[in-house]
Amino acid sequence: MKRTCVATVLMAAFVLAASAATIPAKRRMVVVISLDGFPAYTLQDPKLPVPTLRRLAERGSSAKRMSPINPTVTWPNHTAMVTGVRSPENGLLFNGTLTRTGGWPPVKIEPWIDKEQMVDATTVYDVASRQGLTTAEVDWVAIHNARTINWHFPEQASPDGALEREMIEHGALTRSDVENFDKDNIVWRDEIWAKAATYLIREHKPNLLLVHFLTLDSTQHRYGPKTLASEAAMAFLDARVKEILDAIKTSGLEDRTTVFIVSDHGFKAFHKQIRPSIALASFDHDAYVVPEGGSAMIYLNKKNTAELVAKIRQTLQGVEGIERIATREDFPSLGLPDPQKDPQMADVVLFAKSGYTFSRPTASGGAVVVPAAQQGGSHGYLASDPDMDAIFIAAGYGIRPGVRLEQIPNLDVAPTLAALLGVNLPNVEGRSLRQILQ
Ligand SMILES: [Zn+2]
Repeated sequence: MKRTCVATVLMAAFVLAASAATIPAKRRMVVVISLDGFPAYTLQDPKLPVPTLRRLAERGSSAKRMSPINPTVTWPNHTAMVTGVRSPENGLLFNGTLTRTGGWPPVKIEPWIDKEQMVDATTVYDVASRQGLTTAEVDWVAIHNARTINWHFPEQASPDGALEREMIEHGALTRSDVENFDKDNIVWRDEIWAKAATYLIREHKPNLLLVHFLTLDSTQHRYGPKTLASEAAMAFLDARVKEILDAIKTSGLEDRTTVFIVSDHGFKAFHKQIRPSIALASFDHDAYVVPEGGSAMIYLNKKNTAELVAKIRQTLQGVEGIERIATREDFPSLGLPDPQKDPQMADVVLFAKSGYTFSRPTASGGAVVVPAAQQGGSHGYLASDPDMDAIFIAAGYGIRPGVRLEQIPNLDVAPTLAALLGVNLPNVEGRSLRQILQ
């Protein structure tokens, strides 16, 4: 009798300890907050006014730098963070899908294509959803109409969207807040997106919530990084993160929630613009340039591509501000797709040096390289450039406190999210960051 009693007590204690240590996946929440364009180098400044990010980093784990993939553009890198694979496998090279028009211009980029057509790889929210977990997104990208997302608060919110309607009915939003939403200023939109994130946490407690804020990216494009404007934008975003953390706390979810703070790429200031289409004017309709800030994609007439590539190289060699002219044989080492296999891929990719950005001329003629009207900022430079490195902080349930990693690839984010959600994301290049997991 006595023996049974001791066994029962021991067993009860074991069950209690186990439940405290491992909360079932369905009762957990993982929140990923992406602060678009937040450069790793800015967090090295102890006077940067981001107290919430610093507290999170102290409470949890962080990396000094998180490397993006090529091209260092928003949608490819957000997709890398939820799939664990690079552009050739995840299907994203632009902020949208590039399609061939059969006319002139020969290509166009379409952002509002359904996720099932746009993203080629399995995402962490796909596998989470298939395992019966709930998923939500607020202004995440390359996720339009994703069927594996339970609640969408999209970039182009409108009073007729399902979640927007629900929030209006609950008094969490007014119709006018989201009427003509895509024309509203980005700071306002970030505030609404933060409201949507806090509403989702309070009312739906999704197992996985993806949130994306844009103020800092817009600010750095216009005024450049390392400016008063960019520091104010970072302080503003820090307050949005705090709003979300407060919602987790007041909803009583803090002990079962993991929070990730990430960014997609860094930023570089520029003072000069390179206009490759002016240099290539004599090629007429045989070459078409798609400038992407620190890089430019060149699409060639498919009939005589090899010959054109040689001529393009000759023409652009020595143009001021061009760091690298990459062609098909360079693409595997840059993690870019083969243009003979992927119709989205360009035949030539140019990368700019520091201080320069690629742009499209507003009128024909003029110099190839011109001073910028005002200093601005760009991304799209080589992913190996430390200025393109992004931020990574993780804290809360399942995360070891006090781990400081040096440099991680952003491909590790998706498998780490999968590990925390207890799901399996197969065939990915990235690896789960076991060093930070408890
Ligand atoms: Zn971005």
